Amino acid sequence: MTEKKPDKKRPLRERFQKAARKAVIVPLAAASLLAGLPARADAPQTAPLSYTQQLFLQNEADALQKAPEGSTPQQQATYYMKELCLTPEGLRLAANDDKSGETPARRAEEKQVADALDTLKKLPMTGKPLMDLVARRKIDFCALDKLPGGVAAQYLASSRLVVSGPVGKGENRVLQLAHELTHAAQDENGLLSYSLDWTIEMRVERNTAVEAAAMTMEFLTAYDAKLAGDDGYWKDMQRSAPGLPYGDAKMYSLIDDTYKAGVAAGKTQQESLREAGAAAWKEIFQSADWRRFYLDVELMNYLRDIDNGSFAPPLGPKSAGYTQAALDAAGQIGSGESFTKGAAIYSLQSMLQGEQKMAWAFQAADIARYAQQLGADDPSVLSYREKAKADGNPYLGLDMKKMYVLASDASWRKSHADGRPTYVYEVLDAALAAQNPAAQNPAVLPAAGGASMRAANGRPAPPAAG
Ligand SMILES: [Zn+2]
Repeated sequence: MTEKKPDKKRPLRERFQKAARKAVIVPLAAASLLAGLPARADAPQTAPLSYTQQLFLQNEADALQKAPEGSTPQQQATYYMKELCLTPEGLRLAANDDKSGETPARRAEEKQVADALDTLKKLPMTGKPLMDLVARRKIDFCALDKLPGGVAAQYLASSRLVVSGPVGKGENRVLQLAHELTHAAQDENGLLSYSLDWTIEMRVERNTAVEAAAMTMEFLTAYDAKLAGDDGYWKDMQRSAPGLPYGDAKMYSLIDDTYKAGVAAGKTQQESLREAGAAAWKEIFQSADWRRFYLDVELMNYLRDIDNGSFAPPLGPKSAGYTQAALDAAGQIGSGESFTKGAAIYSLQSMLQGEQKMAWAFQAADIARYAQQLGADDPSVLSYREKAKADGNPYLGLDMKKMYVLASDASWRKSHADGRPTYVYEVLDAALAAQNPAAQNPAVLPAAGGASMRAANGRPAPPAAG
């Protein structure tokens, strides 16, 4: 935002706004991410820009009209948000209007999103209840040029927006939107927030449960389309990234077999699809690339809270933490039974198996959290640190607030050829290498494997690292 805003007035999209945009934009102070905002909302007026604000400012060049002269960055972000986000009907009008001043590329993207939403409306068991939700919750859509590395689309909870970037190779808008709207359904059920008294384990359990449910809905949506006579999505998914759940042949046979067995046993299509979803949700956790991606997202959220000083006492009332009831509701779409009902929670510890650097990064962040909460000299913090030293954790000397700033910056850059984000532990490794250039630490090499959530088959991703 170093540039002066030109005083060029273009016709605003007032006709779309009147026709289609919801009247009230939720104040930005309340905006949060899919990853959730802590329950406490006592941020000072001088608070740093929220992720949502950063996101819209990153897309500034995109706006039809620059924000009014003298706007604060917060006001600019609100302005761009209003300019760039439309209802499904508004998107269609904007895409069809060649006199609005929008670029052809933007209109093409708007058309793509509007078409995808129309497709969803026609899928009775999956897309239709999601589109009912769009109308009920007045959810707007924003086709943006720029999202953080690794993120293909996102649901921004408190502002009830779905943002999506340009569609990459192997990506599909319909399934992307089904994913993000599943998060909107979870939002309606109160599943996207967390409380600051939660442990990192609870936070990871929550985030991976809702993400696995959203990805499950991609599969179910493609299968629903197949049942309705269009198997294109189902086939396309199978050509997607190996290593991610899309490339797991077992996902497809599991869903198909479970659904068919249900129908053969006399169950309804809806109930049979629910059972297929329950099986798929569990299988998603078997993907190491998927786990790594979402573990890193939650670690970033944790560091953000540390950087904000959110764990400084008092922390507010104790909450129940992440509960079975919350997990039960994660796959609740429409009026049918949830496909996560009765599922078992996957623990952080089990997901960190074989991920030594990631585990150390979590441990170092956790110590920083408790040092903030209890004091660095608290006996329990000291013994935690001793234990981490004994584990050989190399990250204990790093300032986690500084690391958050570096990791956050890195998330806006595509630093890997496959488009995936830079993981937090890579940032920590780079910081260690910078402290000790003599050491021949091949620190910043990406992890092995590494299909990205975006490049090979991007699709939806979460927020905050997204
Ligand atoms: Zn997601």
